[in-house]
Amino acid sequence: MTAPGAGAAAERARAILAGDRRALARAVTLVESTRERDRAAADALFAALRDTGGAPGPALRLGVSGAPGVGKSTFIEALGLRLIEEGKRPAVLAVDPSSVRGGGSVLGDKTRMAELSRRAEAFVRPSPSGGAAGGIARRTGEAIVLCEAAGFDVVVVETVGAGQSEIAARDLVDIFLLLVAPGGGDELQGIKRGIVEIADLVAVNKNDGALADAAMRTLADYRAALALQRPATPGWTPRVLACSALERRGLGEIVRALDAFAAATRETAGARRSAQAVAWMWADLRERLEARLRADAAAGPRAVEVEGDVAAGRLAPGAGARLLLEAFCAGR
Ligand code: GDP
Repeated sequence: MTAPGAGAAAERARAILAGDRRALARAVTLVESTRERDRAAADALFAALRDTGGAPGPALRLGVSGAPGVGKSTFIEALGLRLIEEGKRPAVLAVDPSSVRGGGSVLGDKTRMAELSRRAEAFVRPSPSGGAAGGIARRTGEAIVLCEAAGFDVVVVETVGAGQSEIAARDLVDIFLLLVAPGGGDELQGIKRGIVEIADLVAVNKNDGALADAAMRTLADYRAALALQRPATPGWTPRVLACSALERRGLGEIVRALDAFAAATRETAGARRSAQAVAWMWADLRERLEARLRADAAAGPRAVEVEGDVAAGRLAPGAGARLLLEAFCAGR
């Protein structure tokens, strides 16, 4: 079978631009695939989306991170419903590194955000069910673009608070929100892992009932910590807010903060997106080159040997990389 041609791509693009959520879901599945044929179809789809023009303006891209249990799922659902009340259309994507490794999903297989999922104004994508390691940034980046083409104007990218995925997600979003829970001992959650440094907003969730006093103390602690550090985004002073996702309180202030961020960074957003696009291209190229090398008749089998030598300490990693690059380029 041949890869879907330009006609199929144009048809797909039209359905997505018309806001067809099933077409969008199928396209997200397509960009999650690492099969060469699917990659070609995805490239054709993006070309068609570009040709068609008329795509809505870019959405606000919001990263949300936090340790398991802080209430990310509850929070994103409550925030999404609040955004809908304000006339916005939210889309939710998840970056779940555990599912990529084929283990159980950290973000959970349960139906998440059931109420938000049922809303016609929203799109909730469950965490990817598997796939090759790496490429998280590209897949998520492409899924964001697809959501924007379908007319969603706030795209929430949820990460699980495990370190690497936040750093990858930071390069894909405009604004990064760290969700924390009250208390948590003397060590502020996220400080050790360097996640607070990349946060534009910190939301102290579970500000309700017996946890309210602790939430206020946590709020003060984060305000003090953030006052000492360099802003993550030039032109924006990070804010710390409290909310209760469960009782759906404090979400209006968070939406106001998102609006204020968008207004404060309007001038710099274009340059930042350009830089992100270039970084994303190189990340994609690295991934494609590695896939080609592994599939190459000469370099592929050599890679297995060299890996063994490096693992056994017979060869330095740098020397191994050079050998493989030479094997790949030989005869080209
Ligand atoms: P996630 O693992 O970060 O996605 O967290 P979940 O959204 O699954 O929530 C974990 C637990 O915290 C659940 O039992 C929620 O009901 C609870 N929870 C979430 N938000 C709040 C909140 O604002 N207040 C309180 N008291 N509990 C909450």
